[in-house]
Amino acid sequence: MRCALAFVVALLAPASAQAYCRTTTSARQPDPTMCPSQGSPIAWTTGCTGIRINPAVAAPGISPAQFRLAVSESVRSWQTVICDATTRAAPSFELVLLADTADLAGYEDAQANTNVVTFRATWGDDEFHDPNAAAITVVTFGSRTGAILDADTEFNLRARYPFSFDGGPGTTDVRTVATHEFGHTQGLAHSPDRSAVMWYTAGQGERRRTPNADDVAGLCAVYPPDRAVRCDPDLRAQTLMGGGAACGASHGTAHGALFVTGVALALAAGLRARRRFVATARRS
Ligand SMILES: [Zn+2]
Repeated sequence: MRCALAFVVALLAPASAQAYCRTTTSARQPDPTMCPSQGSPIAWTTGCTGIRINPAVAAPGISPAQFRLAVSESVRSWQTVICDATTRAAPSFELVLLADTADLAGYEDAQANTNVVTFRATWGDDEFHDPNAAAITVVTFGSRTGAILDADTEFNLRARYPFSFDGGPGTTDVRTVATHEFGHTQGLAHSPDRSAVMWYTAGQGERRRTPNADDVAGLCAVYPPDRAVRCDPDLRAQTLMGGGAACGASHGTAHGALFVTGVALALAAGLRARRRFVATARRS
C-alpha cells in the first residue's frame, strides 16, 4: 500500500512542480536562480496589508492617473490568484491599494509605518539601491519571527531605460515591474522559472504582468487558504518587546531591466539582498 501511494504521489508531483522561492530571514539570495538555502521564510501574519502611492515624483511619460492604474492592476493580478481550481479557494492574504500618502519609504520602529510605492528621481546610495536596478522593494521583518513589518517599493528614474505605461520597445513596462515588486512585498523571492513574474529580470518592452502557475503556487504556499487571520490594511506601531538581543533585518531586492535580446548584461544587477540590521523588533 505504501508503495502504491508513493507511486501516485510521484505521478502528481513532477520534478518541475515547484520552482518558486520564498524570502528568508537570512535576507540573502546570492544566485537569483536558486532559492535561499538558509533562514526561515518570512510572511505577513495578517490577512492583508495596504500599500499607498506617494505621487510626489512623477515619471516622464506616465501620468499620475496612469501610474495609479498600473499599480492597481498589478495589485489586482495578485488579488485574483486562486489556489484551488475546484473549490476556488483564494490565498489567505491580500494586497490592498489605499489612498495616496505623503510618507516616504523607510521604517521607523515604534511608529505606524506605511508601505510606500513611489518613483525616485534620486537613488539612494546605500547597499539596497543598486544603480542598475529598475526598482527595488525593501522588506523589513522581525529577524526572529520572520513577520513582515513594512515593505516599500521604489522605482528608479535613473535606470537605464525609461518606464512606460504600455511597455513599448526600448522601455520598461511599469506594470510588469510593479507586479514583480509586489511579489517581494508578499514575501516571495526570485524564482528560477524564467516565465514567472518573480524571474529576476525583464527585457525592454517585455510584459510579464500576470502571476503564472509558479507565482501562484508560491503565493498559495506562503498564505494557504485555510489560515485564520484578520484583514488589517494599516500598519500598526510595533515595538521592541522583551529581553535579549531582539533585532530586525531589512531585506532589499532589486529588479534589473538589463536584458537585451535575451543576453544578461549584468547579473549582479538582478539582486541586492545584503543583510542590514536596523533598530526594529520582533512582534509583540
Ligand atoms: Zn526582484
